[in-house]
Amino acid sequence: HKYVYDFAEGNKDLKDLLGGKGANLAEMTNLGLPVPPGFTITTEACKAYLATGEEPAGLADQIEAHLEALEREMGRRLGDPDDPLLVSVRSGAKFSMPGMMETVLNVGLNDRSVIGLSAQAGRNDRFAWDSYRRLIQMFGKTVCDVPGEEFEHALDEAKRAKGTTDDLDLDADDLRGLVDAYKKIFAKHTGREFPQAPREQLDLAIRAVFESWNAERAVVYRRQERIPADLGTAVNVVAMVFGNLGPDSGTGVAFTRDPASGAQGIYGDYLANAQGEDVVAGIRNTVPLQELERIDKTSYDELLSYMARLEEHYRDLCDIEFTIERGKLWMLQTRVGKRTAAAAFVIAGQLVDEGLIDLDEALHRVNGAQLAQLMFPRFRLDHEFEPVAKGVGASPGAASGKAVFSSDRAVELAAQGESVILVRRETNPDDLNGMIAANGILTSRGGKTSHAAVVARGMGKTCVSGADALDVNVPQRRFTVGEHTVGEGDVISVDGTTGKVYLGEVPVMPSEVVQYFEGNLEPERSENPLVRAVHRIMTHADQRRRLAVRTNADTAEDAARARRFGAQGIGLCRTEHMFLGDRRELVERLILARTDDEREQALAALLPLQRADFVEIFRAMDGLPVTVRLIDPPLHEFLPPLEQLAVNVAVAQERGEDVAKEEALLAAVRRMHEENPMLGLRGVRLGLVIPGLFAMQVRAIVEAAVTVVRDGGSALPEIMVPLVGAVQELETVRAEAEKIITEVVGESGVEVLIGTMIEVPRAALTAGQIAEAAEFFSFGTNDLTQMGWGFSRDDVEAAFFWRYLELGIFGISPFESIDAEGVGRLVRIAAEEGRAARPGLKLGVCGEHGGDPDSVHFFHSVGLDYVSCSPFRVPVARLEAGRAVL
Ligand code: PEP
Ligand code: MG
Repeated sequence: HKYVYDFAEGNKDLKDLLGGKGANLAEMTNLGLPVPPGFTITTEACKAYLATGEEPAGLADQIEAHLEALEREMGRRLGDPDDPLLVSVRSGAKFSMPGMMETVLNVGLNDRSVIGLSAQAGRNDRFAWDSYRRLIQMFGKTVCDVPGEEFEHALDEAKRAKGTTDDLDLDADDLRGLVDAYKKIFAKHTGREFPQAPREQLDLAIRAVFESWNAERAVVYRRQERIPADLGTAVNVVAMVFGNLGPDSGTGVAFTRDPASGAQGIYGDYLANAQGEDVVAGIRNTVPLQELERIDKTSYDELLSYMARLEEHYRDLCDIEFTIERGKLWMLQTRVGKRTAAAAFVIAGQLVDEGLIDLDEALHRVNGAQLAQLMFPRFRLDHEFEPVAKGVGASPGAASGKAVFSSDRAVELAAQGESVILVRRETNPDDLNGMIAANGILTSRGGKTSHAAVVARGMGKTCVSGADALDVNVPQRRFTVGEHTVGEGDVISVDGTTGKVYLGEVPVMPSEVVQYFEGNLEPERSENPLVRAVHRIMTHADQRRRLAVRTNADTAEDAARARRFGAQGIGLCRTEHMFLGDRRELVERLILARTDDEREQALAALLPLQRADFVEIFRAMDGLPVTVRLIDPPLHEFLPPLEQLAVNVAVAQERGEDVAKEEALLAAVRRMHEENPMLGLRGVRLGLVIPGLFAMQVRAIVEAAVTVVRDGGSALPEIMVPLVGAVQELETVRAEAEKIITEVVGESGVEVLIGTMIEVPRAALTAGQIAEAAEFFSFGTNDLTQMGWGFSRDDVEAAFFWRYLELGIFGISPFESIDAEGVGRLVRIAAEEGRAARPGLKLGVCGEHGGDPDSVHFFHSVGLDYVSCSPFRVPVARLEAGRAVL
């Protein structure tokens, strides 16, 4: 079994086996770039070691053979007393895990070779002893678990004795003394002397790198980044080169383009007379890479030519680490570099222009998360702003304004032109007007699927939820956090991306990308390379994608915006949002109706209002399909809360007032109270239990469509029944609806589809039957996740998901990204069985997952026709639907 590869044997496509660093070192070697010679021990060897606790058979011999070859090439032997070869031992997994695993430098130094190193370095004793003390320190810490602080203390002590705070003031004698002190620390903690045998040092360092794969911080990092736990790390053994041999040496990092903006040019930092770790430690200030031209023009020109070469070869932005040892340039690392969201788009566009990649590749190299980032206004955090609390980044964006504690006050101040942040413990449907009026929303309770979060995301409004450090006192109109108290009218700022809350006003920058989607910028003529790149890549995504993208919108305004953003219809219009505000009283009348007559009157009063809403929405979506969902939530959501009402009634009674009406209301609230309202009288169940309710809605929808068509427009209504679990439910509703449809449509030519949501597991499992009565399915993955997992969508994220994420039970909330194996399986089954029963059955999804990048790929793979998401997510879904095809 081959466990060790010389750099000349590998290439960039062997990342699984050689790790990212090893594969790229091999690639550069084969390109003829000056890479210090070395070899890579494979991830296979690491996995074998981790499984058994022992190096696999043959590894030691292979290392020996490669070491000998390395020694021959360098003309030096590892740790030779007169002229030592030194090596670095570096981790390098398939995916970059910056700083998570171990590295040991200067392996091969001991009490004798330190003298040889000095001679080699031109009698540079200081350099040699400094290298030796670094070895003992790194080796002690990473290989033998000696507490790092002990070495730090000894170093501080040496500096104190010298009366300095700068490492560079320590001379050779000081450092020799420090080596003695370090050796004592080493012996004290390990019960043995610091190993003098170079090969033993090497073997132990390799083991330590293997083991660092399972270091706690690495394990946690992998879980967060969703990197599989069983990949293992490769180990690179590389001949040391030194950037700290004098002013003609140094070390630096370089980027082939600006990783922040994507602009072409030379970006990087250089530090003369230093080693890589000094740059990281920030001991001295680096200079811009351009300065290197003045310091060492030959190396600079050489570096630039390699950078151009690498970029052309990798066809992407590369970042590079290099060292100059006495005027000789060495390339220590390269990889396709990390970049900001803006740079990702700009660079992809540039590379297409340069003919290095095609548009498919450009589309592949950007993603929806990056696009989403580019769409939100951002805080300009260049000043000193310290957050006072951190909650869940529930709906991204940046918002500042005066704190207000009630919906009414939010509306009032907003009407006066004030910018306000609505602060609540949690929000409920009553807060809707306040949420619309507010610039941002802040709650102390609730997670990413709390009411505040879902509604705010739907509106594209900045929201931080679950900032539990806040003690919100609504009656007194203030909140406290730490030692601060914020009252009504005090200005605060919330960052819905990071979840951070600030006191005072943090300045905000608008997003040009949104201006573009709004149609306010001419992309081809824009001065902004980002806008040009986004336009180009979006256009390509639209050409490539098979999935259509619709939007979840309940108002004509949202619908119109979503349309500008590219929505191809409405996938979910939640009609309950139309029952709020002034109309609540009508709903109350409906609920309290004691006779058929009273109920019919209440419904008749609601009908024209609903119809007018639908007319507006159909007009905004002229020519595009509009899925209108019949009312879903339990009706008691439209009544005042039980406790508050009981108190009001008691107080009024005490005063001797007439409370007949309130008492009736109270009785109704009591009657309708449910322990588990989400599993209670809602959705289709309401339609079956309250006579005339669905009929009124169906009539309003169809009459609206007919009105629009008679006016010369085009309306394509799709009536959707929520929470169906059995085909019999749907058949009952359908029979009633069809009668009304036939009657209202008349000669108008309007075509109405009737379909259902699939959001109860039983519906998914009996989809073949349900399809007999449905012309379309729309997956309500919010409820399907809630009922599939048995997780209350309003509670669990804030309550305990942190622990689930910490334990790696899932890497991301299943309410955010579809659980493909479980809930996704229900979707797959329903799609297959539904289509088998009714070929041509239209399939879509309208849960929050419809705008989540990974979920979009999943829905593409199960063959849905469209995804539907909030207006602001529409461009993200378009982009990801295009990427899903590649
Ligand atoms: C769903 O359950 O996924 C859905 C879209 O409906 P709602 O979020 O309104 O319950
Ligand atoms: Mg639902």
